Amino acid sequence: MLSEFDLIKQFFVRPGAGRAELGIGDDCALLRPTPGMTMAISSDMLVEDRHFFAGEDPRRLGHKSLAVNLSDLAAMGARPVAFTLALALPVADADWLRAFSGGLFALADAHGCELIGGDTTKGPLNICITIFGEVASSRALRRDAARAGDDIWVSGTLGDARLALAGLRGETPLAADALAQAAQRMHLPTPRVALGLALAGQGLAHAAIDISDGLAGDLGHILERSGAGATLDADALPAGPVLATQDIALRRAYTAAGGDDYELCFTAPAAQREAILAAGVACGTPVARVGRIEAERGLRFVDAAGAPLDLRLGGFDHFVV
Ligand code: ADP
Ligand code: MG
Repeated sequence: MLSEFDLIKQFFVRPGAGRAELGIGDDCALLRPTPGMTMAISSDMLVEDRHFFAGEDPRRLGHKSLAVNLSDLAAMGARPVAFTLALALPVADADWLRAFSGGLFALADAHGCELIGGDTTKGPLNICITIFGEVASSRALRRDAARAGDDIWVSGTLGDARLALAGLRGETPLAADALAQAAQRMHLPTPRVALGLALAGQGLAHAAIDISDGLAGDLGHILERSGAGATLDADALPAGPVLATQDIALRRAYTAAGGDDYELCFTAPAAQREAILAAGVACGTPVARVGRIEAERGLRFVDAAGAPLDLRLGGFDHFVV
């Protein structure tokens, strides 16, 4: 039987000095910020039966737990530095822990982000990560910085994670291979860290947010904090490859308000269009221009011809079950 301390030592302590002054093993970790930089800090919790199904593959869970936190740093334009892991586990299962920490560290290493501490306890499966990043303070991509006239952009594609959920729930019939492909988006999100760094570092964007609860709702946070409104072109929203094969009503609903996409939504002056497209190419992350920030409050949708659309999105909240 693994004790709490064996478990930490075996699966979470790694040899070799990281960039933290002091890592796992003392009452606190010690982190020295780079002079002149501001720390960006965020926590995200994943709870069994709420954010993932019981019996979820532990390697994917390790990836996703960190990915959703990296996505928050990306949305701020911050560079990942370190993270802590608070873990409640029903049982200390070595196979589960090996797979979980394997998925976690594969993504952590890809972003140079070091595990510096945490807490471990017995209890219903619950994973909480706090992540620390750095950004030049004047460059952080804040939600309150959108301006009337800005273009609205989104990275990557939207809606496949929500489509996978509909498929798993039996709400939308999907062929097995299509469901498997869409489910990849739900289980293994890609945080857009390089794009966030480029947008902030080159001063290309005004405001940004990561899309975790659906574009309409998350853009709504930018609008509220910035005291602005927007019009989105529903038919310019980039659908995921599986969603793209579905009918137009589902495409519009799930791109506009799907959930679990972990793409970036950002606003930028029209003068930056070419530089933003170039940054997307340089990062290997497609970007699409999907609307415009306006002085008039509220969120409006139009179709490809510019005609107003009434998208009733209320029924598509990922978290209202
Ligand atoms: P304390 O009792 O002082 O809170 P703990 O005994 O809980 O410390 O933890 C011992 C050390 O192990 C601490 O440095 C803590 O940050 C680290 N730690 C505990 N759980 C984890 C975990 N799941 N991942 C990484 N580090 C952990
Ligand atoms: Mg403790």
